[in-house]
Parts: sequence; structure tokens; C-alpha cells
Amino acid sequence: MRLPGRVKLIEVGLRDGIQSEPRFIPTERKVALAHAIARAGVPMLEATAFVHPRVVPQMADAEAVTARENRAPGIAYAALVPNRRGAERALAAGVDEIRCVIMCSETFNHRNVQMPVSESLRQAAEMARLAHEAGVRFVGGLGTAFGCPFEGAVDEKRVRSLVAALVALGVDGVCLSDTTGMANPAQVERLAGLLLDQWPELPVILHFHNTRGAGLANVLGGMAAGVTCFEASVGGIGGCPFAPKATGNICTEDTVHMLHEMGVETGIDLAALLDAARLMEETLGRELPGQVLKAGPRSRLFPAT
Ligand code: ZN
Repeated sequence: MRLPGRVKLIEVGLRDGIQSEPRFIPTERKVALAHAIARAGVPMLEATAFVHPRVVPQMADAEAVTARENRAPGIAYAALVPNRRGAERALAAGVDEIRCVIMCSETFNHRNVQMPVSESLRQAAEMARLAHEAGVRFVGGLGTAFGCPFEGAVDEKRVRSLVAALVALGVDGVCLSDTTGMANPAQVERLAGLLLDQWPELPVILHFHNTRGAGLANVLGGMAAGVTCFEASVGGIGGCPFAPKATGNICTEDTVHMLHEMGVETGIDLAALLDAARLMEETLGRELPGQVLKAGPRSRLFPAT
């Protein structure tokens, strides 16, 4: 099996993870969760989305969550932005990276941001320019890259042409999202491989949802193609508010556990990450999908083997 020596994980629990939570999580608790995640050595946090609070009420405190005095040390702060206004707010807050999401399917893009993909690309160009003028990294996200719940299969040629459009904007990376868990590992290996063949230097990030149980298998598919950066959420929480039957992201601590067991480094302290997952579980007041939180790490059961 082709495995990298090291993988970078980006924590998205405080954005993708909680965006559909009906009960507003107090800002102090979000800040405490960010600090717990940082203590585990996670290198980057997608901390919030600068979106209108009417659209996603849970993100109404984006400025406070990313305020300098509230920030956790040693972790980079990224934020999702839907449009120019969001990008301006995120840059004013001083985040380290801004990220947009364009859906590969027109139907989903319209449901998500009420505009055609061509207009989303036009706005992404503006956001990329604003970010780079401010010296901030800009990552172009492509949602429904492996399938759309409204349109079905998404043509790989379409994904490639959208990646080409983002590359032309000078993006600092491209994130392919399996928004509603339709990907399989063979497809992930093929599509990621296709992109890396064409753009060997392009940082490719993969974002999986475990909707149909293939999440961690898809991480293997991505690593087989040479991808070394993945997004995950503590406890395996998450789901898009505009997607039918959406379920959680791949679980960060389960991903870390699997990678470490295979000898792939992440730089993350699993025990500290489990503390963060427990804090998330306590915050949401219900059992979360993460498996290692329930079973305990293998090394705790058999420390000598
Ligand atoms: Zn997602």
C-alpha cells in the first residue's frame, strides 16, 4: 500500500461540524473547543464561516471566535467565506487563510448560494485577489466533486475544468469535497491522481463525509494517489444544512488513530484530541459518531504490542 510518511489534518468541526446545530453554542465554548483542538497539536482549524447570520445562525459570532484575544496559540485559523462581503470580514478579522466553496453541480450551487457556478467563479476571483493583496492564503473548494444528491454523477472532466479555473486564479490549494458521502476509494484515487498528474505542485486537500460509511476508506484512496492533506471533524460531527440527509465529516480522532497505527505521522497527540472530542460531546449533549472515543485507542488495550 502506498503511504506517505506524514499527513496534515485540518480540523473543520467548528465550521462544518456545528453549522447545522439548532442550538447556538456560546462563543466562549467555541473558543474553549478551539484551544482544546490546538492543545492536541492540530496544525490548522477552519474556525468559522463569515456568512450572513440569517443563513447560518450558528456562525453569527465569526468575528468573536477569530478575535486575536480569543485565538489558540500554535494553530492556523482558516475561515470559509461565501462572497466578497464574507472575504472582507474574514480579512478584517485577520485570519490566516480564507476558503471558498463552489459546487460542481449547478443545482447544488444554486441551493447553496443562489447563483450559477460561473458567477461563483467570478466572485472567487475577486476573493482571491483581496486575500492575496492582504498577504493571506486563498484555497478554492469544490463541493459535490464526487457526486451530487440532486444531479447524480459529476463528470470528472467538469471537476478538472473547475480546478483549472481555480488554478488560473492563483489559488494556494484546491479542496475537493464529497459533500454528501457519495465517493468511493477507487474514484477518489482516480480523480485525485488525474489532478496531480496535471498539476503535480498543486496542494490538493480532500474533505470526506462518512454518510455511507466509506469515509476512512476514501482517505486511503486519496493517499494512494499521493494526497497528504485531509479535513476531518472531532467526534465525526457535521453536515451541510443545504444537503438532504447530510451526515458527519470523517472523525478526526478515528483518522488520527488509523494513520498512527499505519505508521503515518500527523503531529497530533491522540489522547489530547480525545479530550477535545469529549468536550465536543459534552457541548452537544449527545453521543457522537466517533468510534475511538467509545472503544478507546488500541494502544491502551495492548500497550506492549
Ligand atoms: Zn463538508
